[in-house]
Amino acid sequence: MDVELKTSLINEIGLFDYGKANWLEYTIKMDSYFQANFISSEQKKEICIAAVGGKTLKTLKVMIRPKKLQDPEVTYEFIIEALERHFYPNPDSSFYINKFTLRKQMPRESFFEYVVALRKLIINCRFPKKGQHSKLRNQLITGAREALKEKFNANSMSLSQVFETGLLWDDSRIPAAAPPRRNHKARINRVAKCFRCAVPVSKHNNQPCSFDWALCSGCGVKGHLSLACKYKDLSCNNCQGKGHIAKMCKAPAVIQNGEKPVEV
Ligand SMILES: [Zn+2]
Ligand SMILES: [Zn+2]
Ligand SMILES: [Zn+2]
Repeated sequence: MDVELKTSLINEIGLFDYGKANWLEYTIKMDSYFQANFISSEQKKEICIAAVGGKTLKTLKVMIRPKKLQDPEVTYEFIIEALERHFYPNPDSSFYINKFTLRKQMPRESFFEYVVALRKLIINCRFPKKGQHSKLRNQLITGAREALKEKFNANSMSLSQVFETGLLWDDSRIPAAAPPRRNHKARINRVAKCFRCAVPVSKHNNQPCSFDWALCSGCGVKGHLSLACKYKDLSCNNCQGKGHIAKMCKAPAVIQNGEKPVEV
């Protein structure tokens, strides 16, 4: 890789100070720089080995025995995991809570990807079942990138509202596709969308949807967002507004007496 880029990245990340620095914080910082600079998996390994310092490297070599650093199966991820086992040999829930709390949205990470990452990390935190949703909500709000954070209202938004705001933010950042040409013979490819979050199924990487904690504001049913609600395009019988059914209507109830309105 480009030597200048490598040197400047190592400078920015800083060398790891064994015995003083916090390994968890260090890896998060490293990941964030890698993400921002489009660093490939191979380059990550190269930079990581150069940055962790002699003492950590010595430890690493012992940890991965009989494998060797140059072995192809010793990837960047493999190295990070091995050193994590070394620095935190008996991880308890407070370790995982720390990991969860330190996990911020990365420079090029979508909100969708951020939710997936936090849902994975929250499993080991062992928060009481009742408190899980608000823990996730709070971390999404505090960990979001600045441009997204502005869109959240930390005082009033529910988890589902945070989900929807974040996913709409993702959409707003995708450059709009050119409008389809009229009389074009080719059919528009219909993208299969997730019934929970309306994000293309292909983006879920065959994993269960991370938005199953949602509560739909359109129909009041748990397990999907109003963005994905089947009533999304129907009008409410009460207020004629779109996106919700009468049961969920916030407008005052209209009394229907069966009479036709008198025309003036
Ligand atoms: Zn989904
Ligand atoms: Zn719904
Ligand atoms: Zn309504």
